[in-house]
Amino acid sequence: MEVRNLGNTGISVSTLCYGALPIGPLQADMPLREGAALIGYCLDRGVNFIDTAQVYKTYPYIREALRERRGTVVIATKAQAADYRGMREAIEQAAAEMGVERIDIMYLHAARVTPGVFVERREAIRCLCDAKAEGLIRAVGVSTHSVEVVRAAAEMAEIDVIMPVVNIEGTGIVSGDLDDMVSAIERAAGNGKGVVAQKALAGGHLIDRFREALEFVLRLPVSSVAVGMLSRHEVDADIAVFEGRQVPEETLSRIGKVNKSLRVQRFCKGCGTCERVCPNSAIKVFGGTAVVDGAKCILCGYCCPVCPEFALRLA
Ligand code: SF4
Ligand code: SF4
Repeated sequence: MEVRNLGNTGISVSTLCYGALPIGPLQADMPLREGAALIGYCLDRGVNFIDTAQVYKTYPYIREALRERRGTVVIATKAQAADYRGMREAIEQAAAEMGVERIDIMYLHAARVTPGVFVERREAIRCLCDAKAEGLIRAVGVSTHSVEVVRAAAEMAEIDVIMPVVNIEGTGIVSGDLDDMVSAIERAAGNGKGVVAQKALAGGHLIDRFREALEFVLRLPVSSVAVGMLSRHEVDADIAVFEGRQVPEETLSRIGKVNKSLRVQRFCKGCGTCERVCPNSAIKVFGGTAVVDGAKCILCGYCCPVCPEFALRLA
């Protein structure tokens, strides 16, 4: 597995990063030991980088997987905190729940926002910079679906790492198209930012073209690509692609189209909470009920836990 420098951070990461969203309660909700064993399987094959977020609720899996590997794995997480105290608590919670002394990369979790986020959440960013000076984190990042935010972050001294949505179809990119995002990534990398790509397979929509889709993102000036993997076959297939090897036929035959979909239960009250958190404008209330646009939905699951009626199921 190739290892690349993460911009100017001094951190080295494997080009494949284990994306921990799908194993957790927002998606597959794997049993703890099964999920931890899958992460461990990936780490044992050369991956040294795990990506998660406070809202994914996957810290216990990572803690379990790290039991015998502490200090050898780069951990990135994200928090939606808007103020200083909230971000401080998020950092402390992440370290405590994953059983690590410090977090390598802490991102401002800012999926569907404008560059105004850097003003609105300036206290959270100040907290991240203080935490870096104290050694509680090693790098400050921003995770976003927005071209405008990538462009702004590329020019900010406080930001070390950017985690943009980018994939061969441009699915999930906001405030610009795929070409715009590629240009913004090139600018950020040129300015010494570490770039970690997310949604390279568009939440599973591109699984039928996974080799082409992953190779497309790997050709960009990114340090790593975070990919969610739910089985050892998926790990084997992705590692083969990242190492430039053929994927064995046996492995290929076990990787199928993702059958997941987001369903709105009939007891939806049409409150619109899901609409407000969706990073992709993929769910809207029509006639008193939420309706999912399957072409836009990247199956991220962010909307599920916010529904006060528990009316959203990702399965
Ligand atoms: S948050 Fe839940 S209840 Fe509200 S519109 Fe969305 S699905 Fe319906
Ligand atoms: S509708 Fe829900 S699962 Fe689909 S992209 Fe929006 S937040 Fe993610």
